[in-house]
Amino acid sequence: MTQTSKIRTPIVCVLGHVDHGKTSLLDKIRGSSVVDTEAGAITQHIGATVVPIDAITQMGGALSKLTVSIPGLLFIDTPGHHAFTTLRARGGSLADLAVVVVDVNEGFKPQTIEALQILRNYKTPFVIAANKVDRIHGWRVQENAPFATTFAKQNERVQGIVETKLYELVGKLSDLGFNSERYDRVRDFARNIAIVPTSAITGEGIPDVLMMLIGLAQRYMTENLAMSVEGPGAGTVLEVKEERGLGTTLDVILYDGTLSVGDEIVVAGHTQTITTKVRSLLKPRPMSEILIEEKFERVKSVTAASGIKVAAPKLEGVIAGTPLRVIRGENRDAVVEQVMNEIQDIQVTLAEEGVVIKADTIGALEALSKELDSQGIGVMKAEVGPVTRHDVIETGTIKNPLYSAIIAFNTPTLPDAVDALMETSASNVSIFEGGVIYKLLDDYVEWREEKKREMERQQFEKLVMPAKVRILPNCVFRQSNPAVVGVRILGGKLQTDVNLVLTNGKKVGHLKQMQLRSETIHEADAGKEVAISIEGPTVGRQINVDDEMYVDIPERHVKVIEREMLDRLSTSMQEILEEYTSMRRREDPFWGK
Ligand code: GDP
Repeated sequence: MTQTSKIRTPIVCVLGHVDHGKTSLLDKIRGSSVVDTEAGAITQHIGATVVPIDAITQMGGALSKLTVSIPGLLFIDTPGHHAFTTLRARGGSLADLAVVVVDVNEGFKPQTIEALQILRNYKTPFVIAANKVDRIHGWRVQENAPFATTFAKQNERVQGIVETKLYELVGKLSDLGFNSERYDRVRDFARNIAIVPTSAITGEGIPDVLMMLIGLAQRYMTENLAMSVEGPGAGTVLEVKEERGLGTTLDVILYDGTLSVGDEIVVAGHTQTITTKVRSLLKPRPMSEILIEEKFERVKSVTAASGIKVAAPKLEGVIAGTPLRVIRGENRDAVVEQVMNEIQDIQVTLAEEGVVIKADTIGALEALSKELDSQGIGVMKAEVGPVTRHDVIETGTIKNPLYSAIIAFNTPTLPDAVDALMETSASNVSIFEGGVIYKLLDDYVEWREEKKREMERQQFEKLVMPAKVRILPNCVFRQSNPAVVGVRILGGKLQTDVNLVLTNGKKVGHLKQMQLRSETIHEADAGKEVAISIEGPTVGRQINVDDEMYVDIPERHVKVIEREMLDRLSTSMQEILEEYTSMRRREDPFWGK
């Protein structure tokens, strides 16, 4: 493959809704049954699978006449958004291309839409695999056949169903702002997304998915794929793993240059860079050597793109999703600085007020924060790592109860953090844990709505509500200290423990108790006649029979009621409030505004 050595293998990630067939699609691509292994063997890498171009062209999918300069495709073995967003390179995603798997029979689901949003954000070219076509009733299977071949063998009814289902997908994509077409009808791949009908079980349409990916890479990203084979290696840490006999190792996808045993490398810890020397490079052993005890095969050197396990001293504390760079000659300072920037340059906009977010990787943290941002939810602190006691205590100090939440994506809560939740200062803190972003957000939003309602209820209970009463004749039970009189509630809701004023605004005194037919009560509605005790006035002096009085509502309560709760007041209360505020506003037009 010397003639193509300057263009590296594009890296592909598979995304889509749960159960739509991501894993099956990858298994099918990996499975040697797809291809006659003589031609160009599909090779297992660490965390990835490489399908060489010869294998792909042999399958005979569409575009097979294309002259191809790309060596093959490297599929990341872990499917899903998490892998996609976690694997960062050059400030974007490590994946150059993506396949979005959607079950044709189920259509778009939340995670399908999430996948499309992520790919749009990252500007990653992708194809859609409209999967599980073999489930269409009456489908005749042609194992591993390109779509055109198998489609031609189907009867008219089945063909009709395929077309209808595809058009439903095209319509849905159009609602989301994407133009799309069945892949063999696409003229301009830069403008239209190609939809390939597939079956991850029978292998039908898989050759076409692979050819579409090659076509996309070849036409739209050859520049990104150009590299110097001899240059210092650059990669992304997929996973940090303990291996027996090797200590802490890094599973790395190398996307540029060469990585060799003995190379000095720089990787990223939580707060600082780590410089170390590659002790060994390991690849999975080929299937034929499965009986050899050692799990890995040692290699001296690897070239991009490939998946490799790196063993070296001092790798404890490296964060998954961060870069690995080879230091060679002059570039030392620049490389260390670049890796440092990568740790510091977490693309999360922090707000004064907001929730605390935690995730297992930088990429995941960014993806989570982007989603929160799009829903207008602020983030006060964003960190990679598990939820700690310190996080809980810090969240406990957040004033706004709607933000006293920690959203933890794919990362555990440490035991002492759980203990801290029991402490009074942190008793209002809630932790949301999970591995699906949209589910986490739904949970948080639901919690916040409930919290809001509860706060409103509490506030409502504390507010002084409008009411108007008239002192009844023949019902003065006591002149003063306190005055006890019978009143009729003309409107609103009368509550105890409020101040009263006359309709000319003069203060009367404090309504302390209320009785209805000798029973003490705390509130009474319009139309009722009750006896009330008022501290302050003397009947015959400050108040008289037939006087009308309002409950004296403090100005700040009026503000809250008028702004936020007006629609929750009864008509009678609204009328009295209106009368009361116009009385106040005769003197000061801006009172309570
Ligand atoms: P993932 O959650 O997206 O990785 O989905 P899986 O690959 O685990 O598939 C979920 C289920 O759907 C499994 O039972 C698969 O066997 C089945 N499945 C996946 N793709 C196909 C397909 O193309 N045709 C049929 N008939 N079943 C499929």
